[in-house]
Amino acid sequence: MRLGLFGGTFNPIHLGHLRAAEEVSEFLALDRLLFIPAARPPHKNATAVTPFAVRLEMVRLAVADHERFEVSDLENQRPDKSYSIDTLRWFRKEYGDAADIFFIVGLDAMLEIETWREYRNLFPLCHFVVLDRPGYAAAELHHLLCRKLGCQAEPDGQIFHHPSGQRIYFRAITRLDISSTQIRRLAAQGRSLRYLLPDQVRRFILKYKLYA
Ligand code: ATP
Ligand code: MG
Repeated sequence: MRLGLFGGTFNPIHLGHLRAAEEVSEFLALDRLLFIPAARPPHKNATAVTPFAVRLEMVRLAVADHERFEVSDLENQRPDKSYSIDTLRWFRKEYGDAADIFFIVGLDAMLEIETWREYRNLFPLCHFVVLDRPGYAAAELHHLLCRKLGCQAEPDGQIFHHPSGQRIYFRAITRLDISSTQIRRLAAQGRSLRYLLPDQVRRFILKYKLYA
């Protein structure tokens, strides 16, 4: 089993997430890729975040016609904040040691990983895939992984070996400078959202006047 896990707030999901997921899924020949919306994101102001059920529904709409993409409501099944360490431990237990688990994060998120709960314990649990993202420097990733976490980089700088034996892949995916923040801002201004996110999700946002 080759399982991809893609966590995020997904408020809302957009083509930056989806195209990255598609390219990673193809490159790693994943059997399944689960989008895992954070129920109570530790880093975001709880009152400002759109309800979990709404964000979940938008992800569901976005992946409905993809045979390998699914959405997971796991993080809503726990009463506490959504910590990745708990999620990864759950999947490792569920799928066993033989499964290859790939945790997908954007470069901006990875560069903040030192603020995550028990972040050093994340790396032995799974492989990581770091998505390139406009505005963030890959050189900082190298510094973080090699200087602070004791990884060895392969000469091409795309694969890093963690002392635990797990790997961290840096993927130069198609760089789409799209963010949920930008989409919420455009929606609030009544401007067009076309071609930034799947059309089903765009229509859902307009129908329920999200972010208006
Ligand atoms: P917000 O602006 O609300 O923070 P976002 O667009 O960053 O939203 P998130 O839900 O925070 O979306 O992101 C989930 C994950 O996807 C993070 O790891 C983030 O780094 C990554 N990601 C988001 N957008 C892109 C993009 N355009 N390219 C590459 N990675 C992305
Ligand atoms: Mg973000």
